[in-house]
Amino acid sequence: MKSLAVLHASQLVTVAGPRRPRVGPELSELGIICDGGMLIRNGKIEIVGSSAEIENHAGDAEIIDARGKVVLPGFVDAHTHLVFAGNRLDDFERRARGDSYEEIAKAGGGIWSTVEKTRAASESELLAQAQKHVDWFLRCGTTTVESKSGYGLTLEDELKILQVMRRLKQETPLEIVPTFLGAHAVPREVRADEYVDLVVNEMLPRVTSDSLAEFCDVFCERGYFDIEQSRRILNRAKNLGLKLRVHADQLSNSGAAKLAAELKAGTADHLEKIDSQGIATLKSANVQPVLLPGSVYALGSTCYPPARDMIAAGLAVAIATDFNPGSSPTASMPMVLSLACTHMKMSSAEALSASTINPAYSLGRGDQIGSLEPGKAANFSVFDCYDYRELAYWFGFPQAHSVYVKGKKAY
Ligand SMILES: [Zn+2]
Repeated sequence: MKSLAVLHASQLVTVAGPRRPRVGPELSELGIICDGGMLIRNGKIEIVGSSAEIENHAGDAEIIDARGKVVLPGFVDAHTHLVFAGNRLDDFERRARGDSYEEIAKAGGGIWSTVEKTRAASESELLAQAQKHVDWFLRCGTTTVESKSGYGLTLEDELKILQVMRRLKQETPLEIVPTFLGAHAVPREVRADEYVDLVVNEMLPRVTSDSLAEFCDVFCERGYFDIEQSRRILNRAKNLGLKLRVHADQLSNSGAAKLAAELKAGTADHLEKIDSQGIATLKSANVQPVLLPGSVYALGSTCYPPARDMIAAGLAVAIATDFNPGSSPTASMPMVLSLACTHMKMSSAEALSASTINPAYSLGRGDQIGSLEPGKAANFSVFDCYDYRELAYWFGFPQAHSVYVKGKKAY
């Protein structure tokens, strides 16, 4: 593999720093090198420095001239629902007409409509649609995504979705971290407790024996899985060797954040309805919050999670797209940066740390990705702007110029 030399970036945003998630003022320290460059060998970053220094070591490396452009670590999207069939255009239309969630579900919409379509789809049909989704992520500068199952809700269909993720990992450049979310909703054909039994006794043992997931997640919310059911599922997952993430305090302050802390989950996600006590509990167990402003925006809500309170409390905040057909149909991390700055009052620098290095740590990969430092994977994107703050400032149109995964051009 030929070496690569990136030269003359107006800003090389390294996000270099301590080997742990960033908190407080550290979120604003981006380690920017003006007229920066880096040398890449065998898919890894070898040297990061000024363009003059890189040119001295470049030899016969292929040159990427990043003049007038910003180079930054590939985004790490720590919360997506990448694999599903169809879309939810009907729900979208109904929401625009003012229908409530209940009315939409009654009319045959909601999560159940995606479950039915996903069950009916073959593995190759799901793969073909998911490949399109993967392409969207890459074109927006994202090089790693966490991806949840959860639109199958039977053993067979959950395995089918996780198999599609395994194939995406092999067949596309995007790095995919699989999460088992069998407890996404209670399927219509069984009672909640019967379904929890199925998840605990059949699904989790099979998912782990086939090594199909690294994490287990639960939708802990009124009308989905209560605290006791969630605790049972997550404890079983932990005993089987999976790490934990929790959909928590999205629609109500249900105590799910406290459950995440009790079980030492890696992340608690959503948190639109968390209170100060919940924030303190997350801090006591070092749980990382993953905030999903795209779903607040797309549902037409204004209840954004209290990012400033979390940063003030010293939490290692991450932001993610929550890409899914119902509540957050976007694969664009730049759009999420914009929402984080305009609605959650994060600075551009904080949002950038929260979309690169912090989510990398939340996925157990902080030593491999999330910043541009020697020894890490050469996952980076080149953006067609002069200053990194332009990523959040201009919104709603593509700015990525090119994207590289392990030193290979992916877009
Ligand atoms: Zn989600």
